[in-house]
Amino acid sequence: MTMGIPKKQKPEFTDPRKCGHCGNFAPMIRGAVYSTVEPTYDQQMNATFDEGLIYQILDCPSCGKVTLTKLPYHDLWSDGEDAPEMVVLFPTDDKLPVGLPDTIKKAYEAALKVRNIDANAYGVLVGRVLEMVCENREAKGKDMNSKLADLASKGEIPSNLVGVANGLRNLRNVGAHAALGELTSDEVPILSSLTKAILEYVYSAPHLARIAQEKLDKLKKKHK
Ligand SMILES: [Zn+2]
Repeated sequence: MTMGIPKKQKPEFTDPRKCGHCGNFAPMIRGAVYSTVEPTYDQQMNATFDEGLIYQILDCPSCGKVTLTKLPYHDLWSDGEDAPEMVVLFPTDDKLPVGLPDTIKKAYEAALKVRNIDANAYGVLVGRVLEMVCENREAKGKDMNSKLADLASKGEIPSNLVGVANGLRNLRNVGAHAALGELTSDEVPILSSLTKAILEYVYSAPHLARIAQEKLDKLKKKHK
């Protein structure tokens, strides 16, 4: 028994849009559409409207990776302001940790840009971010290991994160010296989590604590 094999069809293109994988801005191939739009009775208006969700799989001609989008639809929405925007369900974009110093933010953004394109380049750039964190926090030590241990001893990162960071460093070294082995896309999520944990401990947590303290101070003033 054979299932009919779907064959490639003449491509239909979308308006130019940014690919969340490679950052390319160009029309994408509309690969598949799934719609839940159907006539729905609106009691308040005593009328029936077409209403539902339109899902699309878009194919990026630049990197060949797919994007999944969701668009709510209603007859009464014109293409203008009242229509909700298309939501990208995949790939999810990486939110930047809050409270990063500008230089570190820029370096981290540069790493995120290549994240889905080149695992090794990502490894090298993420390693640079880590070095900048050590420099920014004036970590003392002859190498990354001892600098991170120094940060932990000063209470800037939890000591169990040193082990995590060493893991990150090892992976990063693999990235910088391709002869030792290539980083694969399997390792990218690990690298990503490790870096994020460090950035959040060093910058986001104190930043959020500062905001909370300021709010508390304001509240105290009010109650004086
Ligand atoms: Zn792409």
